[in-house]
Amino acid sequence: MKVVVGLGSCGIAAGGNKVLEAIQDEVRSRGISVDVQKAGCIGMCYLEPIIDVVDDEGNRTTYVRVTPEIVKEIFDNHIEKGKVLSEYTIAEDDRSYIDGQMRIALRNCGVIDPESIDEYIERDGYRALEKVLKEMTPEQVIEEMKISGLRGRGGAGFPTWFKWNAARSAQGSPKYVVCNADEGDPGAFMDRSVLEGDPHSVLEGMAIAGYAIGAEQGFIYVRAEYPLAIKRLEIAIEQARQKGFLGKDIMGAGFCFDVKIKAGAGAFVCGEETALIASLEGERGMPRLKPPFPAQKGYMGKPTNINNVETFANVPWIILKGGKAFAAIGTEKSKGTKVFALAGKVKKGGLVEVPMGLSLKDVIFKIGGGIKNDKKIKAVQLGGPSGGCIPESLLDTPVDYESIVKTGAIMGSGGMIVMDETTCMVDMARFFLDFTRKESCGKCTHCRLGTKRMLEILERICEGRGEESDLELLEELAVNVKGGSLCGLGQTAPNPVLTTLRYFRDEYEAHIKDKK
Ligand code: SF4
Repeated sequence: MKVVVGLGSCGIAAGGNKVLEAIQDEVRSRGISVDVQKAGCIGMCYLEPIIDVVDDEGNRTTYVRVTPEIVKEIFDNHIEKGKVLSEYTIAEDDRSYIDGQMRIALRNCGVIDPESIDEYIERDGYRALEKVLKEMTPEQVIEEMKISGLRGRGGAGFPTWFKWNAARSAQGSPKYVVCNADEGDPGAFMDRSVLEGDPHSVLEGMAIAGYAIGAEQGFIYVRAEYPLAIKRLEIAIEQARQKGFLGKDIMGAGFCFDVKIKAGAGAFVCGEETALIASLEGERGMPRLKPPFPAQKGYMGKPTNINNVETFANVPWIILKGGKAFAAIGTEKSKGTKVFALAGKVKKGGLVEVPMGLSLKDVIFKIGGGIKNDKKIKAVQLGGPSGGCIPESLLDTPVDYESIVKTGAIMGSGGMIVMDETTCMVDMARFFLDFTRKESCGKCTHCRLGTKRMLEILERICEGRGEESDLELLEELAVNVKGGSLCGLGQTAPNPVLTTLRYFRDEYEAHIKDKK
């Protein structure tokens, strides 16, 4: 008999550690043989704390919203007598949350103990690394990535193979692999959940990238605000070194690769790759002009490949199952799956992974269960503060890079914030602009001052002091900030304003009309 406790940050925040203690107490006081295991987030954050009771035949019963009191009942009935307590088990309706997904990047999250390399190995862990080292040349690895069609999941959607190839072809040595885990968007928690739930998949993906581009050193740049992710990464790196999957002469193939963690101090702009590199070098995290691109001149002026957490987590699956299998999922130009952090006014908030091409409506209603308190949906903000707002009328838009851009939003890294009919869209735009204004590094005038001026106008409008001419001024400033900013932060900061002006102009006008 085994009991698995969900202990991602969401599970812990909902009381998972108390549930774990109660389980350990029951096992001790009853003197019975029950294997108690930890797991990361399975994605159903809205049902935490979650525990799975797995019997000796492998049958799994999922209990949700578990408390220490419920733990006692589960031990009295299920563990001791085999009687399932259906009143606490997951409802059929909630099963659709997982059944409606396709889990590749999240394949192990919530299933294995993230602090156990043996459990990762049991589920084919490090077999992809073994395959590339024993059977493939670096060129063949890059070709496989090309066949897969994998595009960067950090937001820009650049083809992964192209970046790997550019870094491999670049002159200069040593070369580096960097994992961008500087997830800073409000409402986003995809990277955190993958690192907390399955850190080895990211390490394995990085090692494969290292082999492909000819790098021996990797860095994971992760937010210091993610202490659990950092702790689990530290454990995973140490375990991988001990088992010989990181370090010198990996699997006797003569390939050396190791990974260091760098904890970022929480500046949103450090998610931009050149700012991240500057921070990694010990400089102030400010973006640099491109070109040269990091593939040519990155960390310490050497060729550097940067991908985000989700991108790396996909890599072992692609190598083992083949690029064609990945390319068979999704749309013509957006292959595979995408992980979203589903948040806001949706009934079932959590982490979802769906095939590219599924509509926004299906993500929100079929998987997310619709809107809380049966209110009407008004819009969904995709891509965080750099993204845009998509109105209810466009919810049939498929989740793929090109279709999302047509709406004025961007895919971003996967934050999906759902808004209902009570949300003021002007206030929403003000919230995101306030965020980007505070996070602007100040290097360029358009971003530093333009976002400030735009925010002043939005505050005026929200406080009932807006003028009709403000909307024109706001649009003019937005276009200038987009065009005159050096990096993605400034170039995309006006998106929430522009998309709300495009789809909800009447709300701006109503604020101005109701002027105090
Ligand atoms: Fe800094 Fe903004 Fe310029 Fe980016 S656009 S470099 S964040 S001032």
